Amino acid sequence: MPHHSERVPSAAVSRRGFLQSAAVGTVIMTTPRIASAASASAVKIESPFDGAILNRRHGKPLDGKLSIPVVCAAPLSEKVTINGQAARREGDKFVGDVALSGKVTEIVAASGEGAGRGEDRVRVVWDRYSRPRYHFAVDDNIYFLRDIARKRYASLFDCFYLKTLRDLHQKYGTRFSVNIYFAADDGFTLPEFPDRYKSEWKDNAGWLRLAFHAHADAPARPYQDAPAEKLIRDYDQVAEQIHRFAGAETFAPPTNLHWSMATPDALKALHQRGVRVLSGYFQPIDGRWDINYNFDARRSEYVSKNDLWMDFASGIIFIRDAIVCNATPVDRVAPTLDPLAREPDRRDTVNLLTHEQYFWPFYAGYVADHAERCEAAIRWATDHGYEPVFFHEGLLGGKE
Ligand SMILES: [Zn+2]
Repeated sequence: MPHHSERVPSAAVSRRGFLQSAAVGTVIMTTPRIASAASASAVKIESPFDGAILNRRHGKPLDGKLSIPVVCAAPLSEKVTINGQAARREGDKFVGDVALSGKVTEIVAASGEGAGRGEDRVRVVWDRYSRPRYHFAVDDNIYFLRDIARKRYASLFDCFYLKTLRDLHQKYGTRFSVNIYFAADDGFTLPEFPDRYKSEWKDNAGWLRLAFHAHADAPARPYQDAPAEKLIRDYDQVAEQIHRFAGAETFAPPTNLHWSMATPDALKALHQRGVRVLSGYFQPIDGRWDINYNFDARRSEYVSKNDLWMDFASGIIFIRDAIVCNATPVDRVAPTLDPLAREPDRRDTVNLLTHEQYFWPFYAGYVADHAERCEAAIRWATDHGYEPVFFHEGLLGGKE
């Protein structure tokens, strides 16, 4: 994740980076959702969006299923069917209902006959057991591991940083996904971290997990255009070290990559490594979508408005970061998060994010009340009925 983007003007996003990602975006836009329509008169499913993740709020219960509305555009002279049932006309749209009964449902809208037949397909995910839940991710971690390795504390929690996380866990039950680098800027690397704390890591694995984030803080955007092999090499190097010094119980697949950018092939490779959810900002920066895993404008905008989306090409769910705690003063935390709990579009899944370096007084961007900012976000989630989960488990931390 780009901790830089909060304090460096967005114009600092390099021209080179812009051109590279623009090129990647072009490639992605040539691989749209499945659409077998051959003619200009093809029917088009406008809603739900391909990859939408739906819960009870998006439909009506019907015999243990969830009945959701489907809206299509097609020439008004056409007869349109949705999953084989005749659609009804409402204004200039065609509308029908589809009952979701499994985790993934394909919706097929068809119009016309013979050579004039048109068809559109989308797939949606049903989060059948959805309930309000939140995940807390801390990105860009390496300093606390260096601190512990050098000070040789009796306990991991003699390091003030881990003690801060444990205090929050003890008070609110928060689970922390701590996404780490292999190397620090001064040359410290994970192989220097001792395995003498292994039992303490395991004892706390119920709420404290370590995951890969990047090889190092620099360069920025390390996986924006990198081949999948490079990303996986870096991933495996960090994963091996987590297993060595903290045990398999402590290891988790990451829920975010440094700068939230990757290629489509790299995303598929991450899925093979067990990655099921990735978060990003999904914001327009200087007029283009960024920190969005290189997805095109249509999909990036969808995530920005709906917070969740399944990329069926990789099998990974993408979620918008609800807040970046280090960049949000305490009195701005509730105003930032309040819209998520507002009806009728209340979110069931909230990703809280921050970055390790802002906890450290030696860091140029040190935030003296960083722990209070994190606590304010966690308190908000707690007060609004969200339960702490790990998004990499089950379906976004819930039952599948
Ligand atoms: Zn990062």
